[in-house]
Amino acid sequence: MNAEEIAEGITRGNRRLLAKAITYVENEHPISKEILRRIYPRTGKAHVVGITGFPGVGKSTIVSKLTEEFRKRGKSVGIVAVDPSSPFTGGALLGDRLRLDGADVNKNLWLDEKVFFRSMGSRGRLGGIAKKTGDVVKLLDSAGYDVVLVETVGAGQSEVAVLEVADTVVVILMPETGDDIQVNKAGILEIGDIFVINKSDLEGAENVERWIKYMLSLDEETVMELTKLSHADERKLMERLKWKKPVLKTIADRGIGIKELADEIEKHYEVLKTNGILQEKRKERAKLSAIEMAIEEIKAEIMRRYKPLFDGEIDPYALADKIVKEVLRC
Ligand code: GDP
Repeated sequence: MNAEEIAEGITRGNRRLLAKAITYVENEHPISKEILRRIYPRTGKAHVVGITGFPGVGKSTIVSKLTEEFRKRGKSVGIVAVDPSSPFTGGALLGDRLRLDGADVNKNLWLDEKVFFRSMGSRGRLGGIAKKTGDVVKLLDSAGYDVVLVETVGAGQSEVAVLEVADTVVVILMPETGDDIQVNKAGILEIGDIFVINKSDLEGAENVERWIKYMLSLDEETVMELTKLSHADERKLMERLKWKKPVLKTIADRGIGIKELADEIEKHYEVLKTNGILQEKRKERAKLSAIEMAIEEIKAEIMRRYKPLFDGEIDPYALADKIVKEVLRC
């Protein structure tokens, strides 16, 4: 089967071909680029939502309940669970099984034709995980899923990069796990559009709530300061002025607060759409991925073409000048 046929099948809703294409992307099979090139014009319709938080805060439970809620609202849901710390090739498959067997997960959900679930490990190459996640999201988008949920563990660098594929980022916290650690790490405040304190049946939820609200208010003051600076990133600023980051409390395993979370997710999307922010975000993302892809190819070509020179004595400055002149001229 060629790329054309696979791409065609995916956009017609063939789940088997979608799964196959995702595997191609994961394995960096040459055909994946051809498939992605073909489906690209059909992307841009899905609302991509990142769900992040430390292990055990309740991400899978929330993803499962949110999926049920979006299904009730008539939306189809694609889910990518990314675990950058999982080094095994077989890890993803095991992940799917575990989730299928999980007591909290509504099993009917995984039989629903309008729900597609896939988990991804890093397969030994950490750097590529964000790009691959972006490509998998594009596949799900072109397959017609209204909402694509990207679940990832917070908050190292690769995880943050994974979240850059999302239009809306939901940060999940819980009581009593060292509030300052949860909130401060890797600028979670900045990444998040919506904050959720899950397990609010446990003691200490109010403390976390107070803490995060306080941190957010400090953050807002900084934003107001930023508006006075002319060189500030306009799109980011606009987003910050139009959207006050909400803090919600949930008890996910009992489904409490899930409706409100779905409401906020939808509201955020509306704000992005009505103010032209979404368009700008996506334009920026397309630009960055074009640059990234071009650099990758140029780098590979340089390695091929100049291999003999790299083996000799090298003056890096002179060699770089030579390469840039020669590569850019052709
Ligand atoms: P993840 O590692 O972030 O995906 O977390 P899970 O969704 O696997 O949840 C971890 C554990 O917390 C599971 O045993 C859940 O049943 C439980 N859990 C999820 N939500 C809640 C909640 O609101 N309250 C309590 N007490 N437990 C919860």
